[in-house]
Amino acid sequence: MADNGLLVIISGPSGSGKGTVVKKLRPENNFALSISMTTRKPRPGEIDGIDYFFCTPDEFKNIRDQNGFLEHAQFCGNFYGTPRFYVEEQIAKNKFVVLEIDVNGALQVKEKFENCILIFLIPPTMKELENRLILRNTESPETIEDRLYRAREEVKLIDKYDYLIINDEIDKAVEKINMVVMAENLRPSRNISTVKKLNGSEK
Ligand code: 5GP
Repeated sequence: MADNGLLVIISGPSGSGKGTVVKKLRPENNFALSISMTTRKPRPGEIDGIDYFFCTPDEFKNIRDQNGFLEHAQFCGNFYGTPRFYVEEQIAKNKFVVLEIDVNGALQVKEKFENCILIFLIPPTMKELENRLILRNTESPETIEDRLYRAREEVKLIDKYDYLIINDEIDKAVEKINMVVMAENLRPSRNISTVKKLNGSEK
């Protein structure tokens, strides 16, 4: 186990399969999944407290004004934010805390925290993304158009990320995230106490 927790930021357009992939990262592998707060209405099947904490714009503003979010952003007309408390608690337990957030939020976190990696998840082609959004059938045609526009904007920022994972098969994408995080955890800079022991400066 390394000395510190790690923020694992996963971004990617709507329809990239982030949600499905992220839910397969296991607590036994030291992952802890942050649950965001949003003013978006729940989709059929989404559960408050599991998929998101759903809230009103006023509730969101109150928490934001009390500095209760680690980061927050507006996306296609709704607000989304990462509750600060859970993330700080899990980082203190040396967990790999997974944030599934948009590009704006990811770049805010990167500015503030050294201890984070940014992973961009994307389907093999933009056409595939469009098909997935249409087949998912959870959004109106206008919302799909809005999200595809947003996807094209997000893709322009891929080079700000540390890793790019093509999600053509869910289990393989999960395995790649596991590998990236395990490798990251082997950096000497994340194992200072072991390095000190090896150097004889600490028993
Ligand atoms: P959706 O409405 O499809 O669930 O999410 C829309 C976008 O908001 C996705 O890109 C998702 O990753 C992002 N998102 C979800 N939670 C958060 C959050 O807490 N902060 C930010 N910045 N983006 C979020």
